[in-house]
Amino acid sequence: MEKKLKLLIVEDEIAIRTGLVDVFVYHGYDVDFSGDGLDGLQKARTGRYDMVLLDVMLPGMDGFEICRHIRQQDKEQPIIMLTAKNTDDAIIQGLSLGADDYVAKPFSVAQLVLRVEAVLRRSRSVQEDLSQLTFADVVIDTRTLNGHKGSQAQVFTRREVDILTYLLRNQERPITREELLHKVWGYGKNLEIETRTVDIHIAKLRRKIESDSKNPSLLVTVRGEGYRLMSAE
Ligand code: CA
Repeated sequence: MEKKLKLLIVEDEIAIRTGLVDVFVYHGYDVDFSGDGLDGLQKARTGRYDMVLLDVMLPGMDGFEICRHIRQQDKEQPIIMLTAKNTDDAIIQGLSLGADDYVAKPFSVAQLVLRVEAVLRRSRSVQEDLSQLTFADVVIDTRTLNGHKGSQAQVFTRREVDILTYLLRNQERPITREELLHKVWGYGKNLEIETRTVDIHIAKLRRKIESDSKNPSLLVTVRGEGYRLMSAE
């Protein structure tokens, strides 16, 4: 029998938490949960979960802090934030702290299940046969996720490296946000498209690889088409 995927749900609203636990157990996951931020972080830090679903407003410690602490320790841990409101601030903050994606409340449980499945499948098309990414004056070790922009050391997340790998492999053309969600996030056509997730990841990458992130010369926007990675500044 296939090993069950382990999911951690950190959510203090009992009705939502119970609903999520039931749904994911029904879908065959091994589900653990917590209603408290500090306890949730402690559980997440054991590193035994394939996915962490993180509410933002929590007693003890908020979801943003938990996300930041998890990322410090583990750059690979898949994290989806459950943002209380569909506000730009909450979304940007969550993603810039290293979450893979967000789902805004009130959310459709069916959509959430599909996203979790997609993130866990991870991109089959972005396989790690490149051990090092190199373009312009940027070098990234795809196993340790450590890199350099010139002499400046930078640490990347798995998702960021997957985005760069995909863009580097398809350098001859601009890549749409939808294609990135499809190929890098693994999202199928049955998912509601949230292109903001892509834009925020791109903005974060620019701060790491561009000399001037406001005027990108490497990770450029092709108006009306998407993003393209250039090999030289
Ligand atoms: Ca809450």
